[in-house]
Amino acid sequence: MLRAVQKPGRYVGGERGAVHKDKNAVKLRFAFCFPDVYEVGMSHLGMKILYAVQNAEPDVWCERAFAPWFDMREQMLQYNAPLCALESGDPLRAFDVVGFTLQYEMSYTNLLYMLDLGGVPLLSKERGEEDPIVVAGGPCVCNPEPMADFVDLFLLGEGEQMNVELCRFLIRAKEQGWDRAKTLREAAGIEGVYVPALYTVKYNKDGTIASVTPKRGAPMPVRRRIVADMDAAPFPQQIPVPMIETVHDRASVEVLRGCVRGCRFCQAGFIYRPFRAKRAETIDRQARELCRSTGFEELSLLSLSTSDHPEIEPLLDRVLDWTESGKVSLSLPSLRIDSFSDELVEKISRVRKSGLTFAPEAGTQRLRDVINKNIDEEEILRGCRTAFEGGYTVVKLYFMMGLPTETDEDVAGIAALAQKIVDLYYSLPTKPKGKSVSVSISCACFIPKPFTPFQFAAQDTKEEFDRKQKLLRESVKSRKISVSWHDASTSFIEAALARGDRRLGKVILEVYRSGGIFDSWDEGFSLNRWLAAFRKCRRDPAFYANRARSFEEINPWDMFDYGVDKQFLIREYRRATEEQLTTPKCSEHCSGCGIVKFTGRKCFD
Ligand code: SF4
Repeated sequence: MLRAVQKPGRYVGGERGAVHKDKNAVKLRFAFCFPDVYEVGMSHLGMKILYAVQNAEPDVWCERAFAPWFDMREQMLQYNAPLCALESGDPLRAFDVVGFTLQYEMSYTNLLYMLDLGGVPLLSKERGEEDPIVVAGGPCVCNPEPMADFVDLFLLGEGEQMNVELCRFLIRAKEQGWDRAKTLREAAGIEGVYVPALYTVKYNKDGTIASVTPKRGAPMPVRRRIVADMDAAPFPQQIPVPMIETVHDRASVEVLRGCVRGCRFCQAGFIYRPFRAKRAETIDRQARELCRSTGFEELSLLSLSTSDHPEIEPLLDRVLDWTESGKVSLSLPSLRIDSFSDELVEKISRVRKSGLTFAPEAGTQRLRDVINKNIDEEEILRGCRTAFEGGYTVVKLYFMMGLPTETDEDVAGIAALAQKIVDLYYSLPTKPKGKSVSVSISCACFIPKPFTPFQFAAQDTKEEFDRKQKLLRESVKSRKISVSWHDASTSFIEAALARGDRRLGKVILEVYRSGGIFDSWDEGFSLNRWLAAFRKCRRDPAFYANRARSFEEINPWDMFDYGVDKQFLIREYRRATEEQLTTPKCSEHCSGCGIVKFTGRKCFD
């Protein structure tokens, strides 16, 4: 089989840092599944943290499994070979727990694909006493309802402590001889655990939700878990080091969780609240240990906005001190243009000169205020000027199209802003001699996501996206500017799944049964297949994606408490669309989002 596939390294395991235990000596076996190819899954920091955390329990063995690419699938079907975990080579059906991380909605069909190949019944209600418990976590489970038919229990929020609690609980349940039903019922008592079978959903005639009722004492709302102290949170000193190239082939350390900004479209900015930074000393120690144990030659300091770290400059000084001499290159993937000081550029330039990536998100100041980007044109141009003076010549700009209240003027504004950056470069006497500038615009389609102020907004139709993309193309006049965009068809289905309810389980199953896997890849996605499945199941994707929602409507995710109150989201939506007011950064002024009920203290003194 391995000889017949393009990348055998995806399937062999045996990496340095992989954990091997005696399967007969442990009490619980956990298959951690990433519903995408090996190279994508192995680039994900969360998986590595949870792999290490669970394996730190002597009586738990956590192993890994990834989705086999099309060529391997063909081989597996031909030889009737099941999907196995990389460490033991045992099929998924042999495990006590099969756990998935759902990082993006378009991976939902791959969850079914992996269960199917692993010999686990797809539907929760069809699993028997001998089958594994199927669990799922990750950002998408803030609205897990479309996957409610397939997953026995969801883990809401941050997993470092919750996953271990669940493992300990399941060991106890096994020792007590509880059956599956009792195990799931009792598991619902763990904070952060949501067992969909314990809730009944009723619908109104217009298709909206009429009520959600918990059964057998299940909690309502179900509260997300958070890690209070990032310095004390477990972080792996050793991780499996891939033997083939992965998407992010480097050591990564998370420097902070949450975000102070409150961009109104950004789900991560709300579901990871509050802002919690690790101390520079902790980051430095963790980064050194990880680079030493893995031998990686690149280190990435990860977060939603790394330059918002309160000690960013001392942190960079500390880290550069040993990375430079150790020939380890440093990458800082999430920088804010308004934090781009001369000092920061000087420090970054010591390690990287390739190009700068910024996300203004909208082309005009009016729209940037609507989305609460809290950045003005002057700051953007000042940041670019600093970067150009520091020797940079390549700028990549991320924008979003279809944002609430967007007009054609805003779309044309994207091209105008890029043009101003090109003009700025040529106006500088200090520009590098003989080099020209390159500005690339990358445009995503806006997707209204749960737990954001824009969760109430409608998504533009595909026709509207196509029209606006054409307008943008026509507005660009300089050959120094290039434009690329996301496919509106994928974003349409993603929007339907993101705000979907449990009736979409039938659609996802139908897509999978008609051959849909790897929907986040061009090789796998088919709009026609999704539309046919929606039709067959008598559901309308536009009902979920293109419909604005009233504040009173019961959303599928309203039964979950992620810390940020619905009233706060409504207030923010009104400030955006009616009053056109921005909201200050959390570090400057607290706007009372509601997360303090989780932490019991102010986020910033
Ligand atoms: S409680 Fe205040 S400071 Fe904390 S995340 Fe919410 S708005 Fe920001």
